[in-house]
Amino acid sequence: MKAKTLAGLEIDLNQDTLDGLKMRLRGPVLVPGDTGYEHSRTVWNAMINRKPAFVVCCIGVVDVITCVQFAREHNLLLCIKGGGHNIAGLATADGAMMLDMSPMHGVWVDTQRKVAHAQVGCLLGDVDRETQVHGLAAVLGFVSLTGITGLTMGGGFGYLTRRWGWTSDNVVGIDVVTANARLVRASSEENDDLFWGLRGGGGNFGVVTGIDYTLYPVGPEILGGLVAWPASEAPGVLELYRSLVEKAPPELTLVVLMRPAPPAPWLPKDKHGKAIIAILACYSGDPAQGEKAVAPIKSFRNPIGDVLVRRPYTQIQSLLDATQPKGRRYYWKSEYLPRIEPVLCRKVIEHAAKIPSPHSAVILFQIEGALNRLREDHSPVGNRDARYVLNIAGSWEQAEDDKVNIGWAREAWTDMRPLSTGGTYINFLTEDEGPERIEAALRKGLQRLAEVKAKWDPENVFRTNRNIKPA
Ligand SMILES: Cc1cc2nc3c(=O)[nH]c(=O)nc-3n(C[C@H](O)[C@H](O)[C@H](O)COP(=O)(O)OP(=O)(O)OC[C@H]3O[C@@H](n4cnc5c(N)ncnc54)[C@H](O)[C@@H]3O)c2cc1C
Repeated sequence: MKAKTLAGLEIDLNQDTLDGLKMRLRGPVLVPGDTGYEHSRTVWNAMINRKPAFVVCCIGVVDVITCVQFAREHNLLLCIKGGGHNIAGLATADGAMMLDMSPMHGVWVDTQRKVAHAQVGCLLGDVDRETQVHGLAAVLGFVSLTGITGLTMGGGFGYLTRRWGWTSDNVVGIDVVTANARLVRASSEENDDLFWGLRGGGGNFGVVTGIDYTLYPVGPEILGGLVAWPASEAPGVLELYRSLVEKAPPELTLVVLMRPAPPAPWLPKDKHGKAIIAILACYSGDPAQGEKAVAPIKSFRNPIGDVLVRRPYTQIQSLLDATQPKGRRYYWKSEYLPRIEPVLCRKVIEHAAKIPSPHSAVILFQIEGALNRLREDHSPVGNRDARYVLNIAGSWEQAEDDKVNIGWAREAWTDMRPLSTGGTYINFLTEDEGPERIEAALRKGLQRLAEVKAKWDPENVFRTNRNIKPA
């Protein structure tokens, strides 16, 4: 079998060598043609089509240690797949030895300490469902099929961010197998430099095997969902959004989006495919208080659909899942914003009107609150001046439509970029975004990350990521 080395050279791995590896592992090894290989090698974004030499499905920490040892012995290029949701396809690489972490998806909840220990193959929904049994929740993202590990190690934001900060601000310990194949604990008490780096520096420092999250009382019932209007109402709805975000209590997170209406059962059939604007709201505190807080949304003009209701927290966490299936083509452009200005609202309307696909959207997420109160260097995620996230989210089906859809996203981004804080979210960067965009995402944290990298991975073994060169 041909495989790639760290230096990018092709080498032969003979059958005996591979059999030797298999004997040391608990989990299976998959090569092209094996059942499961295609599932492991493909990622959420169909724009990415890479073929690792082989895949190891890791069942436990010992498999991870064995894989890092084996990769070091043969100088192999390694790639690590959590949920496979990274839009740039960072989880997969041609000719690499892939570690598919999805079999490691256990979650243990310590209700006394209010901490969940999650294995790194978990998707967000795995953690939500286990923690909600106890009426607790971790700060995670908006789509339950996203992997926890990539999200957490790049920052992470969702409906609870306004109350408690980036996901990575709410991590209290991380287990990681480092470049010398040692299992190490990183927390504020042990290896605190590594702990700092892992909470924003992505997979640069090792293969993470477990993450401990602080939990908060949330749900099980919250108030959440969507209210939609025809796009002709957009100027009024965006003005409403602007006034509401100014005074929204931290329990309330408001997102606004413009897109062609999906064929969702809660929207009238004759509106499917027509341009709409919708407010997505979640009040994570007492639902009765939430009802008061969202009343101005529900009573605004004549919505064409309203599913902003009391519902289980796990339901709001998966409400958007169907709109983001694995296997479509995706291209995003994103910026952090300091405020919602009238000029931004005009541009959102203008560019949403030009969306070339039934699946794309222009989205504004509200994130301001707890994250702005921590010091810039609390973690490498930084961007403590970010109050909103703009995401120009292109999504379509056919390769022949790439040019027009990518062109639309880039044009909208170029026009709205001057309104940015200057920062961007590392986890939303696409494949074609280079070092200057990583700098925009990590800003002042970059130099310190390079120093942590030099200490923990001086040979840059972990490089299929937003790579930090060792200082
Ligand atoms: C539909 C969708 C919705 C999203 N919504 C949100 C949201 O609401 N909030 C938000 O903050 N982000 C969101 N994101 C972005 C998300 O945070 C990133 O895509 C993130 O990279 C996903 O993590 P993953 O584990 O699935 O990634 P993967 O693609 O599996 O991996 C991403 C990177 O992490 C590395 N990695 C994964 N596991 C490990 C490990 N165990 N050890 C070391 N390195 C590892 C990989 O090697 C790779 O470099 C969303 C993405 C999608 C596609």
